[in-house]
Amino acid sequence: MGKRTLYGTVIVTYRCNAKCNMCDCWKDPSRPEDEIQMDVIKKLPEMAFTNITGGEPFIRKDLPEIVEELYKKSDRIVISTNGYFTDRIIELCKKFPKLGIRISIEGLEDTNNAIRGLPDGWNRGYQTLKTLVEMGHPDVGFGMTVQDMNCEDLVPLYKLSDEMGMEFATATLHNSFYFRKTDNKIDDKYHVAENFEALINELLRSSSPKKWFRAYFNHGLINYIYGNPRLLPCDMSRDAFFIDPFCDVIPCNGMAQKAVMGNLKEAPDWDTLWNSEQAKAVRAQTRNCPRNCWMIGSVSPAMHKYIWVPGWWVFKHKFLKGGKYSLKENSFIPLPEEKKE
Ligand code: SF4
Ligand code: SF4
Repeated sequence: MGKRTLYGTVIVTYRCNAKCNMCDCWKDPSRPEDEIQMDVIKKLPEMAFTNITGGEPFIRKDLPEIVEELYKKSDRIVISTNGYFTDRIIELCKKFPKLGIRISIEGLEDTNNAIRGLPDGWNRGYQTLKTLVEMGHPDVGFGMTVQDMNCEDLVPLYKLSDEMGMEFATATLHNSFYFRKTDNKIDDKYHVAENFEALINELLRSSSPKKWFRAYFNHGLINYIYGNPRLLPCDMSRDAFFIDPFCDVIPCNGMAQKAVMGNLKEAPDWDTLWNSEQAKAVRAQTRNCPRNCWMIGSVSPAMHKYIWVPGWWVFKHKFLKGGKYSLKENSFIPLPEEKKE
């Protein structure tokens, strides 16, 4: 068996029990009978990394079977969840002790519940996290999508995750077919950027190289918020792919309309789909994609592939600048009027 290199994301459902303000997928759920089944999961290729996401993946009762099948072909699996279905999550982690779990928490309690529209959502998510930590589950983390409403909770939430010994993953607002959104936007960019700046400094101060690279990712989020070109090329559809609940293989979740490389239910096997003319045409389209999105699914493979770019940024900020990062060093960030004197 050759070295596994592909990054895959399996969107197992568009059903969701939450009603987040930045994602309308709950308004347009998939029907269970249309969702990807085991016969198609079996056709997926060997992967270095697989992310299972939704919608809310734990809505699917057959998730344990899906995970079991994916472990046959993937070195590492991480599930993104809103953390609501505590019992199902705990049970699955007992069965698969190496499974990664990323719980999205959108701020401290009131903010999270306001953004997520899920009564008691924060308590449920937090309870799930706490239980996993108490169990000694090794691969647990928070994820947060930063927007105007929750940016001030960014550093406090990072500190909470740090105290609990967890990974802290960030994202910001994107518009795409996947989120069914075209009007997500940050109003006070500078204020949001200042909170990212504080987080970046926290991360750079730590002694963990992994966190220094996360600092770079967060710098990329500021860059994205200001509408600049991506800091790294996007190789989605070459090194990485998504498959949606309808078995369409797509490059990513960032496009305005989905570009379909092929349907894995219809294709005889993975290689036929991946090497098809249709897949090649989509690859040509993504090569010049103007959307510049900055989401971990497309950035993580790029950070590994072009490691010298984040590596130099980390070296500069951690060692040459003494662990300090400032918005002012970025000429693309205009100082708001009230900050000028
Ligand atoms: S962001 Fe996640 S939790 Fe929120 S509605 Fe969308 S799929 Fe559900
Ligand atoms: S920049 Fe990359 S991840 Fe974003 S929409 Fe384009 S191809 Fe997809």
